Amino acid sequence: MHILVVEDEGRLAALMSRRLIEERHTADVIRDGITGLALALATNADYDLIVLDRMLPGLDGLDLCRGIRAAGVAVPVLTLSARADVEDCVAAFDAGADDYLTKPFALEELLARVHALGRRSGPLARGPGPGACAGEPAAPEAAAQDGATTRRGRGLIGSLRRVWARALTGAAFMSGRSGRSSSVS
Ligand code: CA
Repeated sequence: MHILVVEDEGRLAALMSRRLIEERHTADVIRDGITGLALALATNADYDLIVLDRMLPGLDGLDLCRGIRAAGVAVPVLTLSARADVEDCVAAFDAGADDYLTKPFALEELLARVHALGRRSGPLARGPGPGACAGEPAAPEAAAQDGATTRRGRGLIGSLRRVWARALTGAAFMSGRSGRSSSVS
């Protein structure tokens, strides 16, 4: 499966993406909610699953989930949270999540839930391919990086940055025309 991992804890994100790659999945790792939402909504992103942390810089994980559901994106979402209380769990499902995993968790449980969500989604259940070798370390260049880990993910990030740059330039231009400050608070 092609998986979007939105997680701001670098070590955990690296561990998760490495394990997913070992299982023959591909993963884009994003550290903030706003970029995560933009990637999830990108028409050519084509993710099969989103692993989504609850607490994120920029945009809360639940708001991200609500955003993609409001846009009609039906991709399965597995929410990660440091909170184990019932209210937080219910809030995640209310926001549109399909599953919920409390930190700290075993990577094998994460994988089991990822594969269960993939099976439930039918055609989305691509991989792990036959012969996947558990325990074989991923190539260092394939492990999580600060940005996206796939070429497609890096391309999407580049496109988003160009769109944002144009939008900011346009906003500054309009602000200047109307005499208001262009600073962002
Ligand atoms: Ca977090």
